[in-house]
Amino acid sequence: MTRRRWIAEQSDEATATLAGAQAEHMVRVLRAQPGVEADVVAGGRVFHAVVAGISDGGSGETAEVRFNLIAEVESEPAMPVTLVISIFKFDHMEWAIEKATELGVAAIVPVIARRTEKHLALAATKRVERWRRIAHEAAQQSRRSDVPAIHDPLKLSDHVKAASNLKRIVLAEQERTATLRGALEEAIGAAGAEMPDLEIAIGPEGGWAPDEEALFDANGWQAVSLGPRILRAETAAIAALAVVASMLE
Ligand code: SAM
Repeated sequence: MTRRRWIAEQSDEATATLAGAQAEHMVRVLRAQPGVEADVVAGGRVFHAVVAGISDGGSGETAEVRFNLIAEVESEPAMPVTLVISIFKFDHMEWAIEKATELGVAAIVPVIARRTEKHLALAATKRVERWRRIAHEAAQQSRRSDVPAIHDPLKLSDHVKAASNLKRIVLAEQERTATLRGALEEAIGAAGAEMPDLEIAIGPEGGWAPDEEALFDANGWQAVSLGPRILRAETAAIAALAVVASMLE
C-alpha cells in the first residue's frame, strides 16, 4: 500500500514537522497516532518516515505532527521547465497551475501582458498565496518531491528583458514554421549530457501584442508553434509540458 505523502514545513537531518492545515487534517480527520508511517518531503528529498509525536493544538494553537525520518526514498525531480504564464481568467489559471504541477513544472512566473484584462492584473498579487496553496496540494497529490515555485506577478516586459541563462521559448500562435519539438531537439543537442533548462512563455486570452512579439525576438526568445489550431492558454500550457515531458523524461 503506498504511504501517504506530506510536504514538511520544517526539517533537519533526522526529523520533520508538519504544521498548519496539513497537520490539522492528519490529526483531526485521519486521527494519526505515533507509529503511523508516511512519506515525508523534507528539503526537496523524500523520506520514509514515522510519526514520533502529535500535538492537537488544543486551545487556539494549530496542530503539529513530528516525524522521525527513517530512510531516503527515490523521488521524482521536477522537469527543468519554468512556465511564464500571462495572467488569464483566475479559474482557468488555477486549473493550469494544478495541471502544470502534476506535469512536473519547476516554477511558474505569472506575468501581466498588454492584453491581460486590467481587473485580473490588479487582483493578481492578492491571488498568489492561493496559487501557491494549489501548487502545494497538487505536488502532494502527484507525489512530487518538491513544490513548484510560484513567483510574484510582474510586468511581461520586465521578465522578457531580464538576463537569463535558460533556453527561452515563446509559444506564438502566429508562428508557422518553427515547432516546440524542433526547438527542444536543438536545445537537447546543444546541452550535451545535461538536460537543458527551459523557460516557456504563454500569452493571454487575447494573444501577444505585436510589440511584445518584437520584444521577445529582440531578447533572444525563440517563437514556436504548437500546431495550426488556436489553443486556450491553459491548453497550450498543458500541451507544451506534455511535449517537453515526452522528450526529457
Ligand atoms: N488571441 C489569439 C487568437 O485568437 O489568435 C489566441 C491566444 S491563445 C488563447 C493564448 C496563448 O496560447 C497564445 O498567446 C500562445 O502563447 C498560446 N497558443 C495558443 N495556440 C497556440 C499555437 N497553435 N501555437 C503556439 N502557441 C499557441
